[in-house]
Amino acid sequence: MSVRVAINGFGTIGKRIADAISKQNDMILVGVFKNRPNYEAYTAYSKGYPIYTSRERAGEFEKRGIPVKGTLEDLLKSVDVVIDATPSKVGESYREIYGKAGVKMIFQGGEKASVADVSFNAIANYEKAIGARSVRVVSCNTTGLVRIISALSKSLKVESVRAYIVRRAADPKEIGRGPINSVVLDPPKIPSHHAEDVKTVLGDIDIVTMAVAVPTTLMHTHMITFRLGEKVTRQRVIDILMETPRIALVSSEQSGITSTAELVEVARDMGRPRSDIYENVVWEESISVSGNEIHMIQAIHQEAIVVPENIDAVRAITSIEKDWRKSVAKTDYSLGVVKAFAKP
Ligand code: NAD
Repeated sequence: MSVRVAINGFGTIGKRIADAISKQNDMILVGVFKNRPNYEAYTAYSKGYPIYTSRERAGEFEKRGIPVKGTLEDLLKSVDVVIDATPSKVGESYREIYGKAGVKMIFQGGEKASVADVSFNAIANYEKAIGARSVRVVSCNTTGLVRIISALSKSLKVESVRAYIVRRAADPKEIGRGPINSVVLDPPKIPSHHAEDVKTVLGDIDIVTMAVAVPTTLMHTHMITFRLGEKVTRQRVIDILMETPRIALVSSEQSGITSTAELVEVARDMGRPRSDIYENVVWEESISVSGNEIHMIQAIHQEAIVVPENIDAVRAITSIEKDWRKSVAKTDYSLGVVKAFAKP
């Protein structure tokens, strides 16, 4: 039997999760709740996703030619899980409504960790979410960091992590956000909030993060140093990353790729929907070992990276799959996740 899923909020993240759910053979998208009849509502309608909205707004949708199936309460009655993809801090306000409907809840990283029982990443702590009432899929930067830290920590004695985050200013559709001509300390304190967020998944590790925002909409970039309690070879680090799902290598020597723009171009050439990159993309030549330290640079596509994690969160929270590797493999196959970029 398929798990019945609702999505509240059909923006950057919600629409991608909706499409990903449609590709799973153990889930069915029952409907999406939209609060405004904008172009994204048209997209949902044109894809055949049943639309739900509030009683007050239904007339506006109908006037624009978008049929409405019912209210949020109607939608929640017919599902097992709701995925909340409303803007940051809005999800919390729906918690009680979801709770009353008796559905399982998946929130996004813009919410406080306290919104859910578990802060989730499929590679790091899938088991913790099995059967939980609610989970929070951590944000894009945190997902990128948690994946790579947990990959190395499972095989090596990682003593500390220092991560320098170059954040994209806005998503491509966000016409009102910046900076457009500056480097902004984001936030102007160290550590940035990302370190605390990583700990919500990985526990009390030694991590410091620092972040600036720059005028690009494409991807984030992370420069990371891991200090180890043992010696390791560069090849061993590469082997660990190659063995870990959702981490892909790109070779600048082989492909000529040295930028996020070229990575996005590859995703376009691959025919990825919306040029989405679900993988942490690590530059192979950036991986270096000096003494007990490993250094590397990775790119994170903020709009896409949490999508596979939401799919796995559905399987974990409903207990339809208890083995994280099986869920991740299934999700990754459905989305065409790769281990190497721009390589035959
Ligand atoms: P978005 O603004 O693109 O989409 C939000 C959607 O919710 C829109 O469809 C909007 O119309 C709708 N909405 C607004 N108010 C609502 C309300 N009161 N009730 C119901 N729907 C409402 O936002 P997003 O970027 O998709 O972010 C969603 C969540 O995902 C946030 O928690 C965010 O922090 C997190 N997230 C975003 C990114 C990213 O880069 N965009 C990456 C990872 C996680």
